[in-house]
This record gives sequence, C-alpha cells and structure tokens, in this order.
Amino acid sequence: MAYQQPLIMQADHVNTDISYNTSATGLKPGHVALSALQNLIQRLPKAELHLHIEGTLEVDMLFQLARRNGVQLPYADEAAARAARSNFTCLEDFIDLFTDVNVLRTERDFYELAAAYLRRAAAENVKHVEMQFDPQGHMIRGIPFATVYNGLSRAIQESPVDASLIFAFERSRSQLSAAKALMQAVPHLSGICAVGLAGPEVGNPPSNFKEVFGSARLLRLHKVAHAGEEGGPSYVREALSLLGAERIDHGIRSLEDPALVAAMVKSQVPITLCPLSNVRLQVYKGQLEDRIRQVLASGMRVTINSDDPAYFGSYVSGNYEWVAGIAGLGPDDLASLAANSFTSSFMPQVV
Ligand SMILES: [Zn+2]
Repeated sequence: MAYQQPLIMQADHVNTDISYNTSATGLKPGHVALSALQNLIQRLPKAELHLHIEGTLEVDMLFQLARRNGVQLPYADEAAARAARSNFTCLEDFIDLFTDVNVLRTERDFYELAAAYLRRAAAENVKHVEMQFDPQGHMIRGIPFATVYNGLSRAIQESPVDASLIFAFERSRSQLSAAKALMQAVPHLSGICAVGLAGPEVGNPPSNFKEVFGSARLLRLHKVAHAGEEGGPSYVREALSLLGAERIDHGIRSLEDPALVAAMVKSQVPITLCPLSNVRLQVYKGQLEDRIRQVLASGMRVTINSDDPAYFGSYVSGNYEWVAGIAGLGPDDLASLAANSFTSSFMPQVV
C-alpha cells in the first residue's frame, strides 16, 4: 500500500507469522484477530511524536495535586471531571478544559506528571518521545520557566524512554509573548529539540509567528507546527513555507488541497496523525474514517500519535488499534507506521 515506508527495523521479536483477519469489519472486540493485533501493536517499538505533557494529566492525579496544592477544582468529584472530558464538540471545548493545569505548581508536580507518562509509555514499548510543553501557559500563572523545565527534565533523565522536549508556542498569544518565553529557554536548550505551535488554529495562522520561528532556527532548534486540524490546507502551506516546519502536527485537512498532498508526498514531510483526538474533537464529523483511510493511502509520510491522551481516552497503542480497525491494517502496515515514527523523529537516524 502507498503509505508503507521502507522499514528501518524488522522487529525480530515480533511474530508476524500469524494469520490475521485484516478486513475492517473483522476487527471486532473479542475477535481473536483483534487480540493478536493488539499484542503486535503493544510489542512494536514505537516513537511518540505528538504528545502534550499537560494532556497526560489523568483525573486521579488532577485531584491529588489539587489537594496537595490547595487548588479549588470546578468539578464536584472525579466522576464529574471524567464526564467533562467525554463531551467535546470541537477543539475550543477541549482548550476550555485546559484550566486543569492550574494544579501544576511546583517542580515536583511537573516531575510527577512526566514520570507517570513515561512509565505508561515504557509499558507500551514506546522507545522515544518528543514531548510538547506549554511554557507560556505556566509562566502566565506565575510559574517560572525553570520550575517547569527542571521537573520535566528530571523525569526524562530518570526514564528508560529516550525523550526530549518541544517548546510549544501558544498561537492565541502574541509573537512577542512567544519570543519573550523563548528567551527564558535559552539556558536550557540542551533538553529541548524543537519549537512547536499549538492552540486554536482558526484566526491564528502560522504567518503570525514567522519571526519567532526564525529565532528558533538561529538557536538550531527543529521546528514543528499544528496545522490542518481545524484550519484548512492554507495553514499547512504557511507552516511549511513561512515557518520552515519539518513536521506537521495533525495535517489531516491537507487532503482538501490535492496539489498540497502531491507536494507532501514528494517531500515526505511527516504528519503526526492523532486519530482518537480527531474522533473526540469531531474533526470531519461523519467522514473521519474515510478521511483517515485517504490519508493512509495518499503516500504522505504518516505517524500515529496520541496528542492529549488523558482527555481523548487512549495512549498511543490505542490509536494504532483504532486505525488498524477502520483501515484493515495488517502486521506489515503497522510495522511501517511504527518505522515512520522513528524516521520522522529528530533523534539521530537509526537506519
Ligand atoms: Zn496537539
């Protein structure tokens, strides 16, 4: 199939000599083929390239940190918090819930958040993570950059999972705000591999951040940007041409511009698809499964990721499982997607 990339590894400990039912309709819960695919996905070495560490704040940790830090939550109990996370209609609904991060106050809090995520990642055989974090969102609450960075980086240093940080600019704030925040990061660049651009897309195009991405380039940081999630293909074009993005986060709406798809097939610039995020935020409502199948068949370099897993119901393996189910993927397809996650990363190439 067109989305298969040359494998960088044959996971020799993964048994691919299994007869799978790879039709989408065959992958029902409880079906033996599903459990075999789940087993394979679990054991495949994977890289996670689109993950917001603040989006890994599980409800039990939310309440634990609220108690420890004396923060009043807007939920009566954990069940109410879980219910709020299951009822999004769009990206803005989800962004409204990001006030949950108010419970993150100390270096210890950030350390525990990242350590908990990295334990989960290790359990799913994730070998490499490029973890976005939101310095401006914390600094605006009076949390120093170093408090955030030190907590996250200590968890990374102690983890068996290879990981680095992506400094995500908030596109709903000004470019000047982004530049000031980036200055705070300069003493800490050894633990930061890239800058990114996140937040509500519509009305906040990549072109607003051209200069600060230029500064990031001078600092020898890689560049990624969210585009083509709720914004149209013009956002993807701007991210590539004006920001120099080396990877597009989401990018699914590139499909609406065949010439853009052709260019992305040619350049093999990766897109970090987050299928269950798209499901929960109702991107392409009613047409999402078709759109995902079109992306997979397009020839674009696709990776599978989890975005904000504590809010969207599943970590990275669950996203692979969902895609396998709706697209009828078999072991070779899944191994290709996992291989793409490494070749699309900023780690030294392992080819
Ligand atoms: Zn994201």
